[in-house]
Amino acid sequence: MKRVNAWNTYDSGMLRSCMDLADDYKDFLDHGKTERECVDRFVNEAERNGYIELSEAIRKGMKLSAGDRVYSVWMNKSMVLFEIGAEPLESGLNILGAHIDSPRLDIKQNPMYEDNEIAFLDTHYYGGIKKYQYVTIPLAIHGVIVKKNGETVILRVGEDEDDPVFFISDLLIHLSQDQLKKPASTVVEGEALDLIIGSRPLTFGAETEKENEGSEKEAVKKAILKILSDNYGISEGDFESAELEIVPAGRARDAGFDRSMVLGYGQDDRACAYPSFRAQIEIHDLKRTSCTLLVDKEEIGSVGATGMRSRFFENALAEVMNLCGEYSELSMRRALANSCMLSSDVSAAYDPYYGSVFEKKNTSFLGRGMTFAKYTGSRGKSGSNDANAEYIAHLRGILEKANVCTQTAELGKVDMGGGGTIAYILALYGMNVIDCGVPVMSMHSPWEAISKADLYETYRGYKAFLREASFTNF
Ligand code: MN
Ligand code: MN
Repeated sequence: MKRVNAWNTYDSGMLRSCMDLADDYKDFLDHGKTERECVDRFVNEAERNGYIELSEAIRKGMKLSAGDRVYSVWMNKSMVLFEIGAEPLESGLNILGAHIDSPRLDIKQNPMYEDNEIAFLDTHYYGGIKKYQYVTIPLAIHGVIVKKNGETVILRVGEDEDDPVFFISDLLIHLSQDQLKKPASTVVEGEALDLIIGSRPLTFGAETEKENEGSEKEAVKKAILKILSDNYGISEGDFESAELEIVPAGRARDAGFDRSMVLGYGQDDRACAYPSFRAQIEIHDLKRTSCTLLVDKEEIGSVGATGMRSRFFENALAEVMNLCGEYSELSMRRALANSCMLSSDVSAAYDPYYGSVFEKKNTSFLGRGMTFAKYTGSRGKSGSNDANAEYIAHLRGILEKANVCTQTAELGKVDMGGGGTIAYILALYGMNVIDCGVPVMSMHSPWEAISKADLYETYRGYKAFLREASFTNF
């Protein structure tokens, strides 16, 4: 079966909309390089679009009804949005779910040291990375440091033109004959991913040199600590209660002479989180309640209080049903079981240079549109949510009617590897779920690539889904 290239289906108006969406998306990528930054931006935009905080609605004892919009944030790193539909909640919701965490390097709790008058921050990588890709590129530090008094210091260094950047060194080629014999998985080891943050010792001036004798011990580290104290009011101990993420420094860019692609960090899974969010806030007056989940920790197994396996979504839904006057344990179970979900996550785009790992009939291609993956997993679909044929048929009808370009994919050839998403977690409620999103080239690398046409088709597809999906189990 041959799929059309989405670019060939655009008139000048659609082409403009496609390029405009990509511009907004790049701006989002530039301001959302961590879960917290994504949540901040989504909250601001949601509030501008009439969403009110769920906890506030509860406090005020508000009664929610069709057309009302609420959101809830969990620990500043996960978020869920609802727009109440005309039908009772127990007949099911239409849910989009994407993750907003991305692979990166996290700074350890006791990270700082000096070695031969170079100051370092020690890191622990997060998610699946090829470690050798993180050396010799400009890196930025994003995150928060929470002081004992509860004050939160927000750090974002390395993104503005005048900011300093940070880096991890690599061995010069001239002396690399032994290193280059190592397999790529160990050529740069996890513990070697230490960030260089300074090299100038703390100086006391010539006249006081005598009385400061002996204080040159770890003088570079001391100098950095003084800068951190002067600029941010933080001490070495404050790293203990910090969440600092090392990410590639710099903006997302148009790629190609034709500007058909976006090259940027963190597009798994912000290439799906962004169109999911936009679809959620742009679609109004629905039959079924719409819901968008933007969650943390997918890249390390959806664990923790802010990962999809936490109960925060279920709790938020219970509160929403209560404010709608519809809550009972049974009604909530029915609402979950009757829901339709798109697990909005990226797929692997076919890369001609590495064609042998893909099975071309069942692979997503750049430019051929929104991608559906019936199952993911590895070694015989293990660990995957295998979507129901009846549900897929329902979605095919909706997307065909909306003229959305779609394609289907598996993650590589049988037994070549594999991966997972949040799909199986929502499927635990008995609801219909399928993975669906944007193909990404060089996934999990510092600079991933997508096609603007795929972003646009996925955005149009998510909107059609929120408006039209109505599949129920009983
Ligand atoms: Mn993903
Ligand atoms: Mn991933």
